[in-house]
Amino acid sequence: MNNNISKPPIPNCEPVKSYAPNSIERAQLQEEYKKSMNKVIEIPMWINGKHVKSKKKKPISPPHNHKHIVGHYYEGNTTHVNNAIKAAIKAKREWEAMCWQDRASIFLKAADLLAGPYRHKINAATMIGQSKNAFQAEIDAACEFIDFLKFNVKFMHDIYQEQPESSRGVWNRMEYRPLDGFIYAITPFNFTSIAANLCVAPALMGNTIVWKPSDHQIYSTKIIIDLFKAAGLPDGVINVVYTDPVLTSNIIFSHHEFAGLHFTGSTKVFKDIWQTIGKNIKSYKNYPRIVGETGGKDFILAHKSADHKEVVTALIRGAFEYQGQKCSAASRAYIPKDRWKSIKTLLIKELQTIQVGEPSDFSNFMNAVIHEQSFNKLKGVINKVRKDKNAEIIFGGGCDKSSGYFIEPTVIVAKKPDFFTMKEELFGPVLTIYIYDQSDDFEKILNIIDETSEYSLTGSIFAKDRQIIAQALKSLKMSAGNFYINDKPTGAVVSQQPFGGGRASGTNDKAGSYLNLLRWVSPRTIKENFVPDKDYRYPFLKK
Ligand code: NAD
Repeated sequence: MNNNISKPPIPNCEPVKSYAPNSIERAQLQEEYKKSMNKVIEIPMWINGKHVKSKKKKPISPPHNHKHIVGHYYEGNTTHVNNAIKAAIKAKREWEAMCWQDRASIFLKAADLLAGPYRHKINAATMIGQSKNAFQAEIDAACEFIDFLKFNVKFMHDIYQEQPESSRGVWNRMEYRPLDGFIYAITPFNFTSIAANLCVAPALMGNTIVWKPSDHQIYSTKIIIDLFKAAGLPDGVINVVYTDPVLTSNIIFSHHEFAGLHFTGSTKVFKDIWQTIGKNIKSYKNYPRIVGETGGKDFILAHKSADHKEVVTALIRGAFEYQGQKCSAASRAYIPKDRWKSIKTLLIKELQTIQVGEPSDFSNFMNAVIHEQSFNKLKGVINKVRKDKNAEIIFGGGCDKSSGYFIEPTVIVAKKPDFFTMKEELFGPVLTIYIYDQSDDFEKILNIIDETSEYSLTGSIFAKDRQIIAQALKSLKMSAGNFYINDKPTGAVVSQQPFGGGRASGTNDKAGSYLNLLRWVSPRTIKENFVPDKDYRYPFLKK
């Protein structure tokens, strides 16, 4: 029986813990980190509520200490993907029939477990497996994940309350059914919270999921699975496979019951996937929902009226936190010519204080990039720029992979606004600056920003002049899905800055808002007529 119209608890964004010296959280996190580094764990897949092992074990090493092994995961094959699909389809009927309060309670419980006993576990796992410092792990794996869990419940409740008008003698209702089939979640390495939310958002709305995480986020995936189990998620609602992405996709994208894709990752992969789904469209029972958040080439524009210290702080935090491996990371900046000398001096002075190393040392602002492939790619780009007359490296450029994949914060000054590092997503600690002539019409630089890259994810303007801010807002309307005024372009908060971009940056379905949840429902409109007519003849037919 479900005889109540209940209201879920009113959510507030999770307060970010400081991890300052002598704080309890710092000591507890350091202990958890040490404990985890001294263990070698096993990470099986999770299919139909069971831990599933295969014959193939693969090692997991921290990117900042790649000779050290902290665990092994079991790599799956075709059978595991098929079993995960079967489990998702089987679990769907009961899960969608469960009253929404029960589904909500599971995820609300997960949020409170995460805020309490699982906080240090998930933060330590994210620090070790993805090489984040304590603060970067806290804002992602703990706070953002908790916020997704809590606010999604509120958004679900808001959506369910949205009902059509009714006229005399009629009651119209809207039933927010889940999609007709199963959902495939493909997730990136860089945010534990995004990986979890790509499953949580559709699951909350009554869908069941096959989840293939990135190979480089499996260490914290284990904690997500433990958390869902502890919160009471029924078997088969979320099924996790560690399988080859192409193999997995080939099976799923030819399945009749494939109903939706929740993807976050690079633009090329998403475009290829879209093409495959298009080619296979006749195989499906429904038109699949395709939601994908992809790459960025995010900008900071400083106007001559901007405060230099504020600009430098935003450049450093925006470009180098988490080694620039955020889709929203500032990777191109535009600085006026007559302010450059003083901004450059301050920027270099501040960059000289940045330490790069293991996350266990809390004085390290930056840690390692995710894997050797990324390290080699970034090193290659830096070497290419060194030889190019159209650019100059004014800071950093050092790369060392002897113990971990470390790259110094690197600043390039490009002589041309379309230099390749101003256009391409590099996904590392590399910032390119273009010095513009402020005596030109300001609209000229706004046009350059808009037209330089294929992406449109985040961007920011620093200015005190209100006319300039208004002009930038107008001219850069389509250049970023998340636009910041006098702030760095990273760090979007669930419910406060719904996140996503257009153009090559994705379908802009705004994770962290009700808009994303709407993609996971297929509403049914129900009209009930209380007094049906008994004669087909309308009055106008009378002679
Ligand atoms: P990636 O594209 O390499 O991998 C993402 C996921 O796709 C992984 O699970 C991977 O195994 C899978 N994958 C790879 N090739 C595939 C294929 N051929 N078919 C199906 N799946 C495949 O990305 P990444 O390195 O994990 O993450 C970085 C990228 O993600 C960057 O481009 C970044 O901008 C983007 N990103 C975007 C957002 C956003 O909200 N816009 C957020 C985070 C990351």
